[in-house]
Parts: sequence; structure tokens; C-alpha cells
Amino acid sequence: MSVIATTCAYCGVGCGISATVTGERSVTIAGDKSHPANYGRLCSKGTHLGETVSLEGRLLDPMIGDRVTGWDEALDAVAHSFAETIAAHGPDSVAFYVSGQLLTEDYYVANKLMKGFIGSGNIDTNSRLCMSSAVAAHIRAFGEDVVPCSYDDIDTADLILLVGSNTAWCHPIIWQRIERARAARGTKLVVIDPRKTETAQQADLHIAIRPDGDVALFLGLLAGMRDRDMLDAQCLAQHVKAETGYIESLVVDCEAMGISEKDFVALADLAARHPAMLTLFSQGANQSTSGTDKGNAIINLHLATGRIGKPGAGPFSITGQPNAMGGREVGGLASTLAVHMGFSEHECDRAQRFWHSPTIARAPGLKAVDMFRAVHDGRIKAIWIMATNPAVSMPDAGFVREALAKCPLVVVSEVIADTDTTALAHIRLPALAWGEKDGTVTNSERIVSRQRALFSPPGQTRADWDIIADIGRRMGWEDSFAWTTSAQVFDEYCRQTAFENAPRFGMATRKLNLGERTGMSSAQFDALQPFRWGGLSPYADMRFTTPDGKARLVAVQPPKQPAADPAYPFRLNTARYRDQWHTMTRTGLSPKLSQHRREPLVEVNPNDGQARGLKDGGLARLSSPHGNSLFRIAFSDGQRRGELCVPMHWTDRTSSQGRTNLLPNQGADPLSGQPGFKNSAVNIEPFHPDWRAFMVSVERPNLPGDIYWTLVRQPNGWLAEMSGIGAVDIEAFMPVGERLEAFDKARGMRRIVVRAQDGTLTAALFLTRSGVLPAREWIVAQLRQADRDNGPALLAGRPAQPAPDCGPIVCVCFDIGMKTILGTIAEQRLTSVETVGKALNAGTNCGSCRPAIAQLLIQNVSQAA
Ligand code: SF4
Repeated sequence: MSVIATTCAYCGVGCGISATVTGERSVTIAGDKSHPANYGRLCSKGTHLGETVSLEGRLLDPMIGDRVTGWDEALDAVAHSFAETIAAHGPDSVAFYVSGQLLTEDYYVANKLMKGFIGSGNIDTNSRLCMSSAVAAHIRAFGEDVVPCSYDDIDTADLILLVGSNTAWCHPIIWQRIERARAARGTKLVVIDPRKTETAQQADLHIAIRPDGDVALFLGLLAGMRDRDMLDAQCLAQHVKAETGYIESLVVDCEAMGISEKDFVALADLAARHPAMLTLFSQGANQSTSGTDKGNAIINLHLATGRIGKPGAGPFSITGQPNAMGGREVGGLASTLAVHMGFSEHECDRAQRFWHSPTIARAPGLKAVDMFRAVHDGRIKAIWIMATNPAVSMPDAGFVREALAKCPLVVVSEVIADTDTTALAHIRLPALAWGEKDGTVTNSERIVSRQRALFSPPGQTRADWDIIADIGRRMGWEDSFAWTTSAQVFDEYCRQTAFENAPRFGMATRKLNLGERTGMSSAQFDALQPFRWGGLSPYADMRFTTPDGKARLVAVQPPKQPAADPAYPFRLNTARYRDQWHTMTRTGLSPKLSQHRREPLVEVNPNDGQARGLKDGGLARLSSPHGNSLFRIAFSDGQRRGELCVPMHWTDRTSSQGRTNLLPNQGADPLSGQPGFKNSAVNIEPFHPDWRAFMVSVERPNLPGDIYWTLVRQPNGWLAEMSGIGAVDIEAFMPVGERLEAFDKARGMRRIVVRAQDGTLTAALFLTRSGVLPAREWIVAQLRQADRDNGPALLAGRPAQPAPDCGPIVCVCFDIGMKTILGTIAEQRLTSVETVGKALNAGTNCGSCRPAIAQLLIQNVSQAA
């Protein structure tokens, strides 16, 4: 068994993985100790990747409608339809909507086909939804989309500001590096976030700003630095171009930030005392109608105080997806042409000369929200969606579904056969999954790493770049799409970054230049080690990619607060869970990762909850002008009054009514086009079901759409939580088999147990109108177990001999529950995460639960007081 070095499938931290293939479709996963992004560490998602590599649910053959076909027929149909549509309606009548899950080689081929050969800018990506505001801010400030920092800066910063980032959950390996820096050198940590997340709970200072209060906060901080005489006059004079009088005009407006003056002064004092200041910002800043201005307000503070291009200092946007950065580099966004070039005449001509292409896109294409509007109103008549699920992930997702349902041609390249988006496809093309792909990705700090194949391609699956190139050839451009390996595609991409990228060509030289990586043989590409382009600090020389070499201090202003709407009085934030990824098509396969949160929760301030008649643990309906969804209620002191938070992960496949992105509107940042997912007007009302139930089942149950249900994986099957009004036809979804049944009239509790002929438990259902349902853990553990004598215990939903209640699982690596941890802390008087680890192992593997354990330690102290 050989160990294969590859990279994680999930977030933009870009962790290296050492994978040992142990069978036809099995692999053991460990962190790659030599990879500079993670030095051997992996979070819960990376650690449990091995649970997601089966062929369950895979799309293995090209499909036209519901008919299995071969590649020739499917690709001829796509090529012919695209060519016909372009001939009849022009190049802008077609579009590609791609994904940060694609490899750089996939992105390169898709971008070349659309912009150089079809001749339209209509290729956009789901990365538009997570970091395009940072891209736009970088281009405005630096003249190029270059991240000026690296993870090494975390180790040398004296002060770290986390803006709109629940780093402990969403970028856990960065979080662990922050933890280590704090322990080693006392680095101060400030979290700027409306919510008191697990990250904020660990901070030295939590600034609970109002939604979209970030621009006012960073302009106020700049004013605070000015007033404390902390501006870097030399940096401003020599390296920055700013509007005269702009810095002098700035004021501190705590009301616009939504915080107290005391909090602001504490933050400004910390910033003044720590010049080695690193500002990490993420989706909470970017997913906003003022996202680009937020990015520039952050960058302005760093430019004006000279806190950039030095160790431990700089504005650092961290990306969401594994290859969002590779897509940015290639140019797979509608707003860039290719390899960090825009749409000036020079740049268009340069790209066309490089590609020897018959045409070239001369203007930006439609960004994601506008792209689906154009599909809806018929301007776009053929769309090809690759490796993404816009029917769930776009804002106003109901509108996106309508658009796709009306579109004459929807092609979807996918790994999974049935998603909310493939349900609307005319043609489905089976793509390689993680573990089968071969190519490169770039992480948040510009490290390019190889993703390597662990398994051979199953069924008829093919690499995305290969599928797209085949379409290019079938559309008549044989020579330009003739690659046979991903190494050849990578080589061409590297050559394009270097093409006419020198001062003698009369334009600012772009930092993105991979010229020294060209000319690699396939063997050299196979052996390619991770490398970072641009060095640790691309702007250490303070020469920016602008005509005069100076950065721009952009004169941004705080946005206006949205007008109050009495019908929708709450502001809705959307978030991600620690152990889930996007629409759960991959993480949802993992029983371990399904333990952390089994249902989508709406977090509500307890005062709001009581005022609205909500019950902690009950159900609530959230509504907006665009749709409504049901969520389980969780009262949380970490939620500001008047604000709510829900996760974005659940889909039609995993919940009948828990889809979040039905609620936000289509409002987007005017410059970046990034939707404002974090600040939507909604209403919340209690939902009073007549009954509540749960079911465990070996097979995935086919539940009716007219009740509330959510479904998650469990070690030997599935767990469904259900509620509804009126009668429910249980027989419609209960599996057949030997049945035991009991009915407790007093509590209105119905219990059904189904066993196979050999006595193994295949399903159990508990339904009540007013009673308390049993805990789930024990009955889940009985699935597939055979014990003919334990009928009474199965019907009771608990063991004959009472077992300790461990509480909800906190540490998914070792299955350790909250009550076990709390009990051990109290019993053994433990005071640190390390001692809890020694006592229970909890938190000692992937470390993703360390912030939760830290919070339990605090809880124990407050309970004891
Ligand atoms: Fe994967 Fe976790 Fe690393 Fe992100 S932090 S790349 S999800 S292991």
C-alpha cells in the first residue's frame, strides 16, 4: 500500500493529506506532515474524508433525461445545442456556471472555451458567493487580486482581528494555528462578528457589531489611529495614493457600528499598541451588499498605518472553497478575463494572441445573480453547470429553480446523481470525484498543491477538463483543445501567466507569473511539491500592480441601514456548521460528521424567543418575501436582539422544509456581485405541530413532502426527525418486516419496531402527540443488531439496564458526549482543554471540538460559582 500525497476536498485552508488506499474504494486519511498549510493536522471534515469515497449516490453514466447513454451521444447533444444556440442568438445566449470545487485545469479549459472561442464573458462560479468582494477590493486597492499575506503571518502577529469569520468551525486548521500562536507568544485576538460564535467565545475581545457595521468600524478605526498619531506618513507618501482630505474627514460613529464606545475604545487601543496586526476576513465580510467596501475599509487601515508587506501584518482574505483561488488565478470569474487580466483592449488582444482564438470576450459577462436572472427572462438559453448546486446555494433559490425549469437546455456535470440541481437538468455528465481527480489547487495563501487520484475512474466518469475539452473539439476547435493529460493543461496555464508579463510590454507586471513552472514533463508534474507563488509577502517591496506602483486608498463610506419592514422585523444571518460542507452532498455521507448537528437550527436570542411565543427545542417558521422554511429553535445568548441565524446546508434531499436560501433576496454588492446572505429581512413565528416523531432505518426512508422532516446519516443507516399537523400515513414509508408495536394511550405515544427474518433491527419509529421521545443514541446503535430477546427494550427505545446518558456528541473522532465531558471536568476538577484530552482523549485527534471543550470548561466554572 503506497501513501499518496494529495489535498483536502473541502475548504480554502488547503491542507495536505497522506492517503493510503486500503481497498477498491477505501482509504485511510492522515494529515501530510510536510505540507506547509497544515504540517500534518486535519480538522474533522478532512479526517473523515475516507467515509465519503464510496460509490453511493454517484452519477456513473451520461444521462439524457432519465436515459443512460454513451459519451458520444451526450457530448454531441451538448455541442450541437450550444453551437445552434450561439448561431441563432449570439455568444451571450449561453453560459457556464462553475465551482471552486473544480481543479485549476478544469477552470482553465472552461475559461478558454467560453472567453476565447465562444466569445462571451458568461462564465461565473459559485466562488462569486463566497469571496468575490475580496477579489474586487484587492483589484481596487492593489491593481491585482493578490492576497498579501501567508499563514506564517499568524505565527508572528501580535494582534489578530477576525472579521466575519467563525474560524474555529469554518477554517479549523487556521484556528489551531492561531491557538498555538496565542499560547506561544500571547497574541491578542479580537473577533468582529454580530454573533458570539465558538470563535468569539475564545477571543480577548468580541466586538458584536450590527450586520453590515464593518465599514463604519474600520473607518472609525482609521480615524482612531489618526487621532492617536499612528498613521505611517512615509508609507502614505511613498506607496499609497489617497483622495486629499479623505482620512481627515473620517469620524468614529459607534451608532453605525452598533457597538458601545467602551468596546470601540478597547479595540482602538489594542490596534494602536500592536503594529504587527493581521486582519483575517471571510464570508461574514464578503457576503454583503457592501462587501467590496468592507474589504477596502480593512485594506485602507493597513495601508494608512503601514501594516502590510511586513511579517505578522496585513489584510488577509481567507477563501471558502478548496480551489476558489485557482479559479481566480485562471480567470474563471465573469469579471476577469484570464490570469489576473481584465478586459482592456491590450489584455483582450494579449489573451487572443496567446490562445490563437477566433474571437475573444471584450467585456465582463454576467455575474451569478445576474446570470440566473438572464436564464429566468430567456436571454440565456443554454447553461452548463459544473460541480455545484445553485438550486440550493443561490439566494432566492426558488427563483433559480424557476429559471432552470424554464431554460431550454440545462447541462449539469456532477458527481452525485440526484441533487436539487440535477433534478432540473436535461443532460447529466458524470464527473470524477475527489479521490479520482488529478491536477492542482491553490489555497488561501497562494500555495499550489497537487490533488492526486487514489482510485480509478468508476463507470463512465471523466475529468471535468477532459469533458469540456471534448466539447471544444466537437464545436470545431480540435487543435486548441487537444490536451491528453492534466499536466499539459497546467503547462499551458503557466505559460499564459508568463505571456507578455514583463515591463517591456508597457503594462504593470502582474505578480501572478508561473513562468518558471512551464516545461514540466508528466513525471515532474506527478512529483510536483506544493509551492507558493509570490513568496510569503508579495508586497514586501511595496510595489503594487498599478501604473504608478502605488496602492489605492479607496474613499469608501458606510452603507445606509436598510429601512425597517414591520412585516419582516428580524435580520437573518446564514452560517455554516463545523462538520458540514455546503449542500452536504459529500459530508452528508459521513455518519461521524452527521453527529455534530442533526437538524438545521434557528438561533434566537431568548428574549426575542419569549416575546414571539417560541419554545427552545420547538419549531419555527421563518418567512421572507421570497419563501419560507421551518427550523428547530435554539435559544442562544450569542445572538443579538432582533437577529436570527440559520445554517445553509440542508436541501430537498435532506429536509422537506429546511432550506435556508429560499429566504434571502437577490441583493448583491454593486461592484463584486456577491450576494448579501448575511442580512435579510425575515419574520419568525412558532410552528405548533400536532405530533412529533423520529425514525431510525437501515434504508433511506421515502418520507412524504407534506410533513416536516430532516434526514441524516447514522453509523448503520439513517435518522429522520419528523413533525406534522393532522394525520400521517405511517404505512407509506415504514419498511416491511416482522413488526412489534405498542401504543401508550395516556401519552399518545406510538412505537413500532421492524426486524428482518434473522432478527436484525431494520427500522424503528416513535411518534407522540404530547409525550417525550426517547433519546436517539441507543436505538440508533441497535440498527443491524440481532437480538430476538430485546423486543421490549427496542419498543421502549432504551436498554433494559439503564446506560449513562452521554449527551450530544462533542468529539466526533472518539464519540464523546457533552455530559461525559462536563461530568469528567467536574469530577476531576479539570481546568484546561489539554487535561480534558488526557482524561478522555476528546479533542486530541482532529482538534475541531477544542473550542467546544473550552466552552464547557467555562460553563463548569460558572455552574460551580
Ligand atoms: Fe480540509 Fe479541514 Fe483543512 Fe479545511 S481545515 S482543508 S476542511 S482538513
